[in-house]
Amino acid sequence: MAEKVASPRLELAPPCYEPVVDSRDTGSARTLTGRCHHVCVFISHNLQQGWTRRAKDDMLEKVRAAERWALRQAEVWGAPLEFIPASCFGLEGDIRPVRFPAAHTDPTVHECWAGILAQLGWPGRTLFEWAKAHHQAENVAVLLFSSAAGRSFAMPFCGHPSCQWLEAAVIYRRQVGFSVPTNGALIAHEIMHLYGAWDLYAEGDFTQQQEKIAQRLYPSDIMVGPLNTLRTATISPFTAWRIGWHHPASTVLFQRLRG
Ligand SMILES: [Zn+2]
Repeated sequence: MAEKVASPRLELAPPCYEPVVDSRDTGSARTLTGRCHHVCVFISHNLQQGWTRRAKDDMLEKVRAAERWALRQAEVWGAPLEFIPASCFGLEGDIRPVRFPAAHTDPTVHECWAGILAQLGWPGRTLFEWAKAHHQAENVAVLLFSSAAGRSFAMPFCGHPSCQWLEAAVIYRRQVGFSVPTNGALIAHEIMHLYGAWDLYAEGDFTQQQEKIAQRLYPSDIMVGPLNTLRTATISPFTAWRIGWHHPASTVLFQRLRG
């Protein structure tokens, strides 16, 4: 296992997931090391736009592509990593939740996620406990695939009292607000968030100037923005630190990014 590092001072953290309690080393997807298991859930919350089985299979292939890419990156960094084949919910018939979060800014986002977990029959930490017992998984993350169009987002553990400990990302079949399609790179980007990675593009208080610095330092990093392809995407030292592959003087890296 990668050596654990102290969390950076909270005031240094980009506020994309306010209130930020460092999502690294917390929740169900702590660091991207060891035996990791992804649970894919196919959801339609608009009766007009259900999933076809073929579209689900296409999405699962993109998840496998993202995992293969992560394995190649882990090899470069010398990080121990293994993916247990994904488990699925809603493969035969879409899951239709009563409530679904509209965006990561939706104040009911945590309650919606709790409701979906209960509807699946795995409330609280039970899904993680099952994966740990059944697959010897060390990390578990859930990918919620929505049949609708929207802007994909991650729900890493944030420490908020209502925040669900089981970490999940919402991935829309068609993207709104991103110029890329729902490809393996986008799925990899959201998965990285769940293991602690931060966005490296202008969003919230992460400024245009910081984005320029990030693009200059780490132009191919998976977190510099939604990417068109995994082929050229990499894990920079900054993101490697965030996901537990690298142990630099973290504040030095962050200071570089801050310019
Ligand atoms: Zn992001």
